[in-house]
This record gives sequence, structure tokens and C-alpha cells, in this order.
Amino acid sequence: MTHDSYNNFWLSSLAERLAPRPRLEGRVEADVVIVGAGFTGLWTAYYLKTLAPSLDIAVLEAERVGHGASGRNGGWVIGNLAGLERHLGTLPLEARRACCRLLADNVDALGDVLAREGIAADFHKGGAVYAAARYRDQIAIQRDYLHHLHELGHDEDACQWLDADQLSEKVRFREAYGGIFHRHVATVNPAKLVHGLAETLERLGVTIHEHSRAIAIDHHTVTTAHGMIEAPMTVCANEGYAQRFHDFRKHVIPVQSMVIATEPLPDAVWQEIGMAGRPAFADASRIITYGHRSADGRLVFGARGTYRLGARPKHDQAITEAEIRMRHALLSDFFPILKEVKITHGWGGSLGLSRNFRPHAIVDRQAGIATAGGYAGEGVAGSHLFGRTLADLILERETEFTAKPWAYANASHRRIIKRWEPEPLRWLAALAITGSYGGRGVDEAGNAGTLDQACTDQDQRCLCFGDRVGKATTGPAPGCRFSRLPLPH
Ligand SMILES: Cc1cc2nc3c(=O)[nH]c(=O)nc-3n(C[C@H](O)[C@H](O)[C@H](O)COP(=O)(O)OP(=O)(O)OC[C@H]3O[C@@H](n4cnc5c(N)ncnc54)[C@H](O)[C@@H]3O)c2cc1C
Repeated sequence: MTHDSYNNFWLSSLAERLAPRPRLEGRVEADVVIVGAGFTGLWTAYYLKTLAPSLDIAVLEAERVGHGASGRNGGWVIGNLAGLERHLGTLPLEARRACCRLLADNVDALGDVLAREGIAADFHKGGAVYAAARYRDQIAIQRDYLHHLHELGHDEDACQWLDADQLSEKVRFREAYGGIFHRHVATVNPAKLVHGLAETLERLGVTIHEHSRAIAIDHHTVTTAHGMIEAPMTVCANEGYAQRFHDFRKHVIPVQSMVIATEPLPDAVWQEIGMAGRPAFADASRIITYGHRSADGRLVFGARGTYRLGARPKHDQAITEAEIRMRHALLSDFFPILKEVKITHGWGGSLGLSRNFRPHAIVDRQAGIATAGGYAGEGVAGSHLFGRTLADLILERETEFTAKPWAYANASHRRIIKRWEPEPLRWLAALAITGSYGGRGVDEAGNAGTLDQACTDQDQRCLCFGDRVGKATTGPAPGCRFSRLPLPH
């Protein structure tokens, strides 16, 4: 059962409901047209306009500003990139360190723009804790991850080990075995950020059209149902909502993630669970977790979901009671005092996963097409960096941003990003990647489980993992490694 009364907390926290911006009508010309008003599109427009104020820039959004992941995410602003090792693997240590410094500085740079432009988006840099919490065997996972971060080029000051006591000073989990503290992570209210950025752009002279879905991009012309824009450069900024034109959806697929928010928690609860410095937190669960204390004293907590056969992005925000229950159970397993608190909001959306985890900023000058994405769930800061990079690439500036290994000055995305396999192989590959995360999780019914026993549910629509602690969800099917993943039907 889906529950429409659960909605997106970030959107509900906006001061006012803005009237829709006018849709594109008729035939117009621009220097750059940007398809998609999420962070990637808007940051690209911001840096283009501030670097070259005379540029005529138009943004087309299929729905409303922030309709995609940018208005729905968990609010982590991470000084890292998922899949970074794919780009840095062969570089010498000093070059890897320079990339990691840039990623760390990117968090402050984003905060600086918000301060400069007066965008009040609850930006708070409290770092992040990647904890070994709930299970002792998470210690080894997090130790390995810390080693990996240092090998990548993050220094000891940026990412350091916390023993159990040090961890409890930051966040008091039910079980605190230790963890990593990553200094260069902030949190933000993403809806305030995306809407504040759109308003800033309009002040700078950028035109934004809502309810203007691009239905074709051809010969430097973007067509919508009611108009068309001719421009020498088109930026496709659709990430998890990638379209079929130019095969984008074959290269970046949508993966669902879902978030819940509690009611504002009383001081007594905060005293028990800590987080005075408002760090973000995650553990080493098989299902990727992410949480933080919001500016108004709620716990906002998310866990990654699944890939849907046929690369269908999640357009609606609603999530099911079971999806909410599963996340509440996980959260309460971290902090048992939260078992009885009210979950006031629950919502979901799609993030973009490129084959081989390669986030990218690409300009194909010959085709007049630019794109960025594939952030694999780390796109809030990533889109700022990549939007800035795309602007430099489009303006043919040679900067420290365009020199980074994820920036491609003159290439086609078809050559740079591997294609996902056709269905159903793509679906199976996505399952294999999700399944390879390893560790323990919680099923949709809220049972803490392990991966040693698995089964299909009653109506054969999902695979579920069994539960060593209590009952298996239904009859076991040994050998299956995946948890609660939808089967094709
Ligand atoms: C639930 C959830 C939690 C997440 N949590 C985090 C987090 O805590 N930290 C983090 O770093 N990242 C997180 N992410 C990922 C992050 O939000 C995204 O990577 C980032 O917002 C992508 O921004 P974008 O602008 O590239 O894409 P989007 O924000 O998805 O924007 C794409 C836009 O394109 C529009 N569009 C699509 N097709 C067309 C068309 N044909 N014509 C016109 N417009 C079109 C869509 O309507 C949409 O508005 C999360 C994602 C989700 C879904």
C-alpha cells in the first residue's frame, strides 16, 4: 500500500509554495540550453553565467525545479566521490592527493556560494561518522574502508579512526565499536538549496521554464511539446531521470533510494543519542544507510533501495508502509529510543548509476552536447563540482577542474561511459552489484537478517534474505544472496 500522506519533508519545509514558472512557448534561440533543473543543471548555469555574464542561458525542466533527486535526497554534502578509485587508480600518490583535496575543498566552496548569494539552506559542516555500529564485524569493514580512503589520497586529518569512546562522543549508537570520522562532510536542506539556487539564477538573468519536457534533441535544437530552442550547446542534466535521447538511459540507470523523517525530537532524546555537533552518520550495512540531525531537530534517515527492471525512474515521491517500516526498524536498531517516535515523512527518488561507477563531466563539442552525472548517491557535492567543471569545459577554459580525470573536454559519452547490458542482463548486473555489498541488513518487515539464507516472498515478486536471529520471512531457498529485490514479472 502506498501512503500519499507521507511526503517529502524538505519540500514541506519550504517557506512558500512557488507558482509554476512559465513553460517554453514558440521558437527561441539561446547560447546554452540546459535540460533538467536539478543541481547539475543549475550549478552549470550558475558557473556559466558568473564566468560569462553575457551568455544567454535557458533551463528546461520537465516538472518543477528540484523534481528529481536534487529535491529529495538525504542532504549529505560529501567531500568524496563514489567510484573515485575508477579515476584515480593508476595516478601517482601526489596526483591522487590533489584530487582528494579538491573534493574536500568543494564542500567549503559550495558553502561559500550559499553564503555569498544569501541562499539559506541550513548548510552545516559537522563531518560524517561511518560507524561500526550494531555488529562487531562492521569494524573490519570500516577499517578496510579507512585504508581504502587513505590509499585513494585522503589524508589522516581528513579521515581518521575513532575508537568506541570517541565515536560515542559524536553519536551514541546502541552498539558503538568504532568508526571513521570524515571531516569534510556537511549537511544541507536540499529543497531550500535547489530552489534558492534557481532564484539566484533568475536574478542573474537565466531563464527557467517549468513543465517543459524536452522530447527530442537534434541538430542543436531542443524540442518540447509547445516550443523549441536552438542553441549551439545543450547540457543534458538528468542523472537518475536520464532520457532515451542520445542513449543516456543506456549508460546511466536509475537506482531507488528512500528517506524517512521523524517528528522533531525532544532534548531528552538528543541527550541520549548525542549528535551535538550534528554530524552525518552511516554504518556498514549491506543496504547503504545515511542519516543526520536536521536543523529543526528531526532525524532524517535514508537507505538505498533497488533497481527496477526496464530502468524506470521513480517519478512519484510516495513510498509504501513496508518501506517506511523497514527504515524505521533500521534506525531504531541504531537508536532503540526511536522505536516509539512518530515518522512524519517518507519519500523516495532515483539516483544515477553509471556502469563501472564512473562519475563524469563530458563535453562533446562536435555534437554540441554536454552531460554530467553517475554520482551513485553522492551527487549533492558532486554536482557542484561537476557543474563548475562543465562550465569551464564549455567555455574552453583550462583550469584545475578541467584537468581532473573525470573531466572530458572533447568526447562522446557513448565512448567514455560503458553501456549497461540490455535487459534482463542489466537488471541482473544491477542485482549483482547491489548483492556484492555484503554484510547484514534489515528486511522490509523490519527483521534484522543475514545473507546466509534466502527465499522468495509469498507471491514470488521479491527475493528476501532469511533471518538468523528470528524467523525466515517465508520458506528458505538456500544459495540466494539477495535481499528483498523485486523479480521481473
Ligand atoms: C532518496 C535519495 C537520497 C540521496 N541522498 C544523497 C545524499 O545524501 N548525498 C548525496 O550526495 N547524494 C544523494 N543522492 C543523490 C543526489 O541527490 C543526486 O545525485 C543529485 O541530486 C543529482 O542531481 P542532478 O541535477 O544530476 O539530477 P536530478 O536532481 O535528478 O535532476 C534531473 C532533472 O531533470 C529533469 N528531467 C528529466 N528528463 C527531462 C526532460 N526530458 N526534459 C526536461 N527535464 C527533464 C527531472 O525532472 C529532474 O528535475 C540521493 C538521491 C536520492 C534519490
